[in-house]
Amino acid sequence: MSEHYDVIVIGTGAGGGTLARHLAPSGKRILLLERGDWLPREPGNWSTEDVFVKGRYISPDSWYDVKGKAFFQPQVHYFVGGATKLYGAALYRMREQDFGDIHHHDGLSPAWPISYQDMEPYYTAAETMYQVHGARGEDPTEPSASAPYPYPAVSHEPRIQQLSDDLEKGGYHPFHAPCGILLNEANRPYSICVRCGDCDGFPCPLHAKSDAEVLGVRPALEHANVTLLRNARAVKLETNPAGTAVTEVVVERDGETERYAGDIVVVSCGAANSAKLLLASASDKHPAGLANSSDQVGRNFMYHDSQAVLALSKDPNPTVFQKTLGVNDFYFSGPDFDYPMGNIQMIGKSQAAMFRGEKPLETKFAPNWALRDVAEHAVDFWLSTEDLPQPDNRVTLGPDGNVHILYTPSNPTAAKRLYHQLKSMLGSLGMHENHLAHRFAYMKTDIPVAGCAHQAGTVRFGADPATSVLDPSCRAHEVDNLYVADTSIFPSISAVNPALTAMANAIRVGDHILGRLG
Ligand SMILES: Cc1cc2nc3c(=O)[nH]c(=O)nc-3n(C[C@H](O)[C@H](O)[C@H](O)COP(=O)(O)OP(=O)(O)OC[C@H]3O[C@@H](n4cnc5c(N)ncnc54)[C@H](O)[C@@H]3O)c2cc1C
Ligand code: SF4
Repeated sequence: MSEHYDVIVIGTGAGGGTLARHLAPSGKRILLLERGDWLPREPGNWSTEDVFVKGRYISPDSWYDVKGKAFFQPQVHYFVGGATKLYGAALYRMREQDFGDIHHHDGLSPAWPISYQDMEPYYTAAETMYQVHGARGEDPTEPSASAPYPYPAVSHEPRIQQLSDDLEKGGYHPFHAPCGILLNEANRPYSICVRCGDCDGFPCPLHAKSDAEVLGVRPALEHANVTLLRNARAVKLETNPAGTAVTEVVVERDGETERYAGDIVVVSCGAANSAKLLLASASDKHPAGLANSSDQVGRNFMYHDSQAVLALSKDPNPTVFQKTLGVNDFYFSGPDFDYPMGNIQMIGKSQAAMFRGEKPLETKFAPNWALRDVAEHAVDFWLSTEDLPQPDNRVTLGPDGNVHILYTPSNPTAAKRLYHQLKSMLGSLGMHENHLAHRFAYMKTDIPVAGCAHQAGTVRFGADPATSVLDPSCRAHEVDNLYVADTSIFPSISAVNPALTAMANAIRVGDHILGRLG
């Protein structure tokens, strides 16, 4: 007989880890199932060679194209805390307009079934839980907020402050990027975060990053009613004979098959793996996959149309923690372009060793000094354009049970315009004009890691059961006790980073579940 819980949460990343912490004080019996283990705290956490060149924390999975040809090793991370263990912790709210229809150059970004006002209190709760640093009132596109950021903005280092000043002189509106690091600049000797250069894309051995292990799962486990099973991979959800409720979660752990039952089951495995689990749970009552009579499970896989680019500063750029500035002046339109272009933000500072990891063949014979010189002068930007949902961009399950992905990029015109916009500004920003190289910051192949890092869609929520998998509370239209709480629920992805929205929505879903459990 299986063990019985009030709530089973599958996956402990931005969605599942946040939900666990929100549910924990209720006293309900909660089981967390996580396919990964604790991410080891070790010197390798901060080794560029280990992290970027050897891919020490990347899953060994192979994902396939539709023809079944293995086409990349996805840069996904299976650990307690999920992708947030390595994320850059830029914790943005979606813009208010992102919750409605937005017309882009290449198509429509569809509305969410809830409004920004519905989500606002949960954004505030998520910013509190994840101790976000930021400054309101600087970014003209920022949505209204019911509370200030819980912590002051992370200061710019001198070269980035200069960049901010130059942008302002040019009539733009640079802002302090919202940032989830446990940094106390007023009292550095007592700060957990040491403001190092190995944050974006690295795990933090100090546990100073606002990730879902540190601020989600660990605080949840302080409650005796919460149990975490690590190395426990959910492989199937089984239902009652009518197919209307999940009765058991089938789990593989240490080579054994185990079964767990819960009144409520929440899937939070990340966009590709949440779709995979539902598709793998097909049955007589759900022949196309669990909760999938709409044929929407797996569809509308999105990531950001992202470009990691490197400009060369005329003066050296000795910045250590670079991810402190953002620009949204081109979020909704740009000069001579009436459609949204996207968000500009900084990314982790280039290091010479990273280039070897990113382009091993091209850099193999380059002298170290040349790479070092580039890295010393590099100012690194992340350009993020909205990827539009397309039904044929989808995750399916191969006969071998592996994830298969069919994906064609969307919105390339807007992405190109954003790139050329930044390039046209370099001369006035103390950088070499017309030099804006693609950095391919987290990739070794021609599939950008963002394809996995910012993955979303696949189990969209909506009011209409014919076109969505989940209802507005993120409960499956067809399965009464099944919820999904991760980035897979996104009907559209906006152009800002997705984690805070996944966290806020998980708290919203948690409130709904608590109300239901009584
Ligand atoms: C390098 C990098 C940088 C990033 N930077 C940012 C940033 O600056 N800002 C931002 O907002 N976002 C950023 N992101 C993206 C952000 O981390 C993700 O959007 C977010 O973590 C997604 O949350 P999730 O809950 O959907 O999935 P995840 O956080 O990936 O969590 C899914 C969890 O489910 C587990 N799991 C999967 N399948 C199963 C199964 N079958 N059984 C049990 N457990 C399972 C996984 O191991 C994982 O722990 C970054 C990501 C990466 C990789
Ligand atoms: S900047 Fe702070 S949070 Fe990020 S890795 Fe360094 S110490 Fe950790």
